[in-house]
Amino acid sequence: MAENQNFIETQALHSGAEPDPATGAILTPIYQTTTYRQTAVGSDKGYTYSRAANPTVTALEKRLASLEQGEFAKCFSSGLSATTALFLALLRSGDRVVVSQTCYGGTVRLLREIFSSFGVEADFVDTTNEAEFRTAVEKPTRLVFIETPANPTLCLTDIELAADIAHAAGALFVVDNTLLSPALQRPLELGADVVLHSTTKFIEGHNATLGGALITNDAELDARFDLLRKSTGTIQAPFDAWLTLQGVKTLPLRVREHSENALAVAKFLASHPLIETVHYPWLDSFPQFELAKRQQSAGGGLIAFEVRGGFEAAKDVMNSVRLCSLAENLGSAETLITHPASMTHGDVPKEQRVAAGITDGLVRLSVGLENPLDIIADLDAALTKERSEAAAK
Ligand code: PLP
Repeated sequence: MAENQNFIETQALHSGAEPDPATGAILTPIYQTTTYRQTAVGSDKGYTYSRAANPTVTALEKRLASLEQGEFAKCFSSGLSATTALFLALLRSGDRVVVSQTCYGGTVRLLREIFSSFGVEADFVDTTNEAEFRTAVEKPTRLVFIETPANPTLCLTDIELAADIAHAAGALFVVDNTLLSPALQRPLELGADVVLHSTTKFIEGHNATLGGALITNDAELDARFDLLRKSTGTIQAPFDAWLTLQGVKTLPLRVREHSENALAVAKFLASHPLIETVHYPWLDSFPQFELAKRQQSAGGGLIAFEVRGGFEAAKDVMNSVRLCSLAENLGSAETLITHPASMTHGDVPKEQRVAAGITDGLVRLSVGLENPLDIIADLDAALTKERSEAAAK
């Protein structure tokens, strides 16, 4: 099935999947098996035990590698287990990693609370600021890890520039591409050595599974991720890989629609008198709009905003929405509204949250696939409730 797969819509449906040779079944079966009967001692059909590899997971890996324009992929039980495997595979005691100051709170917690006790030093740096970034890598740096757009403020790091800075410093360069997915941004083409995904988000897209992936063109790195995964037992379960294989089929279509809906909602919020600030990379008022246009092909599904009146006003809005669900996660078909300071970034030290612009009043919205007019009506009603209560005071 290697031919005629020039476009991402086609790859999302076909890469990695062959009709089942035994039955012709068009969907890759769920290989719900721990073990594989071997033909003779030392001779097998490529699979020996499902902690090492499983055919359903392999199909997903081939598809994700193809979408990212990479050669190799390894899938994990969650995004954070992929991040853990990445750090365990590449870092040793005494190594230093430079990380985007603004990034998913679980990544910060993993480095600050777990890897620090193994002698790994993490410096959280404003990688959107070239001078600060360059200064940070003057000290010996084993790994540069960026997230762009960054969760939750959506600030951007220039991937090509970051690749140059990291490589000139002799560091490996990793991009967490979770917030856009390969349908909107492909960091390997811009110089990344490894792309990380939480497939829990847009890739699977239906709030149904946890998963993670590490994708690279470097066979040696891939072999290290493989060893790590086999040794620590963090491969994705076959059923979750199978659900992700179904979800990813519509990824290009979904993220296009997520982006259109998010732009409509962002414009509504930007024009609303009770909204203080709106962060959305595809608004021409976004400070890094030009960079967004250069390195991503649409705005994506996430918006961050602040309500006039700070935390209390924001809390009222989050407690008043009906269609939007107050929940963690992002990138799903359903619209989710999140309070980063207490939820996804609750374990990030306050001073880092403040430096990253994660105020107590910041609201994150993962715009879903509902009709955008319904999402806007829901937010408008939640804000209006807030306005009438404020007026009554
Ligand atoms: N990377 C980013 C950008 C995330 O937003 C998340 C989770 O929210 C993760 C990684 C971790 O993924 P998971 O929740 O699948 O462990």
